[in-house]
Parts: sequence; C-alpha cells; structure tokens
Amino acid sequence: MVSYDFTGQTAIVTGGTRGIGAAISTAFLKSGAQVIATYAGNRQAAESFALACGGISDRLTLHCFDVGNYSEVEAFYRQIDESVKTVEILVNNAGIRRDSIVGMMAKDDWQRVIDTNLTGTYNMSKFAVQKMMQARYGRIVSITSPSGRMGFEGQANYAATKAGIVAFTKSLSREVAKRRITANCISPGFIETEFITGLPAEQLDAYRGTVPLKRFGTPDEVAVSVLFLASREAAYVTGATLEVTGGL
Ligand code: NDP
Repeated sequence: MVSYDFTGQTAIVTGGTRGIGAAISTAFLKSGAQVIATYAGNRQAAESFALACGGISDRLTLHCFDVGNYSEVEAFYRQIDESVKTVEILVNNAGIRRDSIVGMMAKDDWQRVIDTNLTGTYNMSKFAVQKMMQARYGRIVSITSPSGRMGFEGQANYAATKAGIVAFTKSLSREVAKRRITANCISPGFIETEFITGLPAEQLDAYRGTVPLKRFGTPDEVAVSVLFLASREAAYVTGATLEVTGGL
C-alpha cells in the first residue's frame, strides 16, 4: 500500500468500525493518525475492531451515536472538544441502504436512508468545518456510490442520497476553499463487505459481470484512495469524485 504520514493529525471516520470504514480507520492508524471511529449501535463489532487494532489502539477512540441525529452529533463534537484540539480529517462513511421499488417503499425506509446518508453528511460536516475554518486547514472525504450517478433499480432512496452527497460536496468545496479546506467524494463500486454480502447469489453474480475488472473490490482498495484525498499532498483536488469501481 502507498504510505502517507498523518502523524499529529486527527481523523474522524463515521461508521469506522465495520466494512469499508474499518479499513479506512486502520489505514489512518497505520499512518500515524489519531482516529475517532464512530458507529451506530453494533457495540460488539466496534469492540472486536478495537481489539483487532491491538498495538495501535492507543490512538483509537470509539463513539456511538446516530449521525442522522443533529443533537447527538452536536453532543459528540462538544465531547471531543475536551480532548482534541483540531480535527484535520473527516470521512463521511456511515451509510445504510433499505432497498425497495418506489411503489412499495415504506415511508420509514425512505426517511431513514435520507437521514443517515445525506443529513448525516451535513450534520457531521457542519461542525467539522467550523473547527477546520479556525485552523485554516482540513480534508473532508465523503463516500458516495455509482448508484447516485447511474441509479439502480430498488435504490431510489439510496441513489438520491448518494447523488445529494456529490452535490453537497461540490457546494461545500467552494465555500471552504479559501481556508485551505478541501471536500471530495470517493465512489466505491461493489466492495466486499456485509453491505452487499446479504444480497442473493444470482444478483451478486450479475453485479460482478457488469464490472470491467470482473471482481468486487476490497475495503483496503477504497481506504488507500481515501488516504490520498485526505493527504496534504492532495491540496489541489477539491469538489471531485474519485471512482474506485473497477471500471463500472
Ligand atoms: P457496513 O454496513 O459494512 O458498515 C456501515 C457502518 O456505518 C457501520 O459502522 C455502522 O455502524 C455505521 N452506521 C450505519 N448507520 C449509522 C448511523 N445512523 N449513525 C452512525 N453510524 C452508522 O457498510 P460498508 O462498509 O459496506 O459501506 C460504507 C459506506 O460505503 C456507505 O456509505 C455505503 O453507502 C458506501 N458504499 C458501499 C459499497 C459496498 O459495495 N460495500 C459500494 C458503494 C458505496 P454499526 O456497526 O453500529 O451498525
């Protein structure tokens, strides 16, 4: 893996204890960063993740809250204010899908996906940006999806949030550019995590067949791209979406 040095920097990774987020948190820890990994409620997964981090876990802290809940996000930032002076990096990775065709989509499935994926990105970015503006430095990386660009059947709610994250990021990148803060997206294709392993085998085969590289990606392959956009070296990349899709 390409190596970056994030020593002395703090990275918040939402949904940073499982799947792609765990790989991102691990990559930051291995690169010297202080990592604040958040999760929604799967305490067991969070504790196993911390355990797996072993020797580097003294730079890892875990926080459990709902990114879609404004008050909980505000309380989280107030809490970390006491221990962390600056936040250099925010990775908006937490995301869910509740697939269903529009005609059958439950109101709650629409709302929950919007709240977590899109409102969560706003909630987390708002307070991070305030800190970054003061420090005149920051890197925000948000995880979108090809679903937002192409639309997938049964994912109208999810696709809308992922397209929204791209638009949100483009606007945000313009607002904060003067303060040396960049905001970008990563769009992972089909990545081997619990997020997709629950899908029927035939559907997985069909998806695999649409990928020019003919395989699913790994969380580590997403993490290395996040680290690039979060690095000081990526100072001239902003408002962009980096596709990590095997050519999808
Ligand atoms: P996982 O389902 O494996 O992990 C999701 C993480 O997000 C978990 O840590 C979960 O916490 C956390 N989370 C979920 N809801 C909330 C919430 N309301 N508040 C706080 N944290 C929450 O997902 P992946 O790793 O597969 O996906 C990560 C991101 O990548 C998502 O944004 C997804 O849309 C995107 N993506 C994934 C692709 C894939 O193929 N896997 C493809 C394209 C994009 P807990 O453990 O407590 O449940």
